[in-house]
Amino acid sequence: VKEFFNNKTSMKLKEVEVGRLQKEKEELKKIEKSKTTFFNNISHELRTPLTLLLAPLKNVLTHEKLPGDLKQELDMSMKNGTYLLQLVNEMLDLSKLNNGELSILKKKRAVVPILSGIIESFKKYAREKEQTIYLTFPSDKISIDIDQVMFEKIIINLLSNAIKYSPPQKDIQVKVKEYGQTVIISVEDAGIGISGSDIDKIFDRYYQVDANSAVGGTGLGLSIVKEFMEMHGGKVEVKSQIGKGSVFTLAFNVAQENGKREKDVASQA
Ligand code: ADP
Repeated sequence: VKEFFNNKTSMKLKEVEVGRLQKEKEELKKIEKSKTTFFNNISHELRTPLTLLLAPLKNVLTHEKLPGDLKQELDMSMKNGTYLLQLVNEMLDLSKLNNGELSILKKKRAVVPILSGIIESFKKYAREKEQTIYLTFPSDKISIDIDQVMFEKIIINLLSNAIKYSPPQKDIQVKVKEYGQTVIISVEDAGIGISGSDIDKIFDRYYQVDANSAVGGTGLGLSIVKEFMEMHGGKVEVKSQIGKGSVFTLAFNVAQENGKREKDVASQA
């Protein structure tokens, strides 16, 4: 009888415990949800005024009669404002990735003109460090199925890292190659390189190589590159040598001919 009651009591206790854990889990879920909503809202709220601040600043900077010292100061504001905007955008992307809110819209796109456009927008930054960005490709007709906005973010992250982590005068190479059904895009720098112990971690969220933390950054860029590449069904790899430089390689599937994809699926079925 004693045992029976003991068992009954312990069952009851277990039920209470399970109930308590369940409640705690629900509470945590609620907190997580409101945290994400708050995070999302604040990022949005920051983005609008920042964009409105940078657009006129960009216009003012094109003014020819701007005194040298004023131009320098406005340049600095523009640079820091742009950095802040990038940070907010990265946080927003990450929050959307966490919530599964980021949908991918792939279309067949010629990749070379997109890369040329991005490189053009980077020229100013590269020039400040006396670097040149070269683009080589076998044909400007090479097409891949991409979400253009995501693709641009991938390339922008890799290029800004290549500039950031290279000493002045070290040029950067962007290469497009086609191997059968695969299109490879590489971003190669002759910069500081990454050590063997860091290389496996640089795609983790918030990871920054200690020695470089003074350069600034969030440690988010490469984790976003990796996740965006996975969403494209592609992958990103890196080879690097300390003091020699780094090569980041993106592998995409070549764009399918119109209708071929449906046929492929049908023939597999
Ligand atoms: P961050 O905002 O710090 O640049 P990333 O996620 O883009 O964040 O990169 C993670 C870390 O990897 C960087 O902090 C840097 O130490 C290292 N890294 C990234 N790209 C390069 C590169 N091209 N050359 C050397 N180190 C790099």
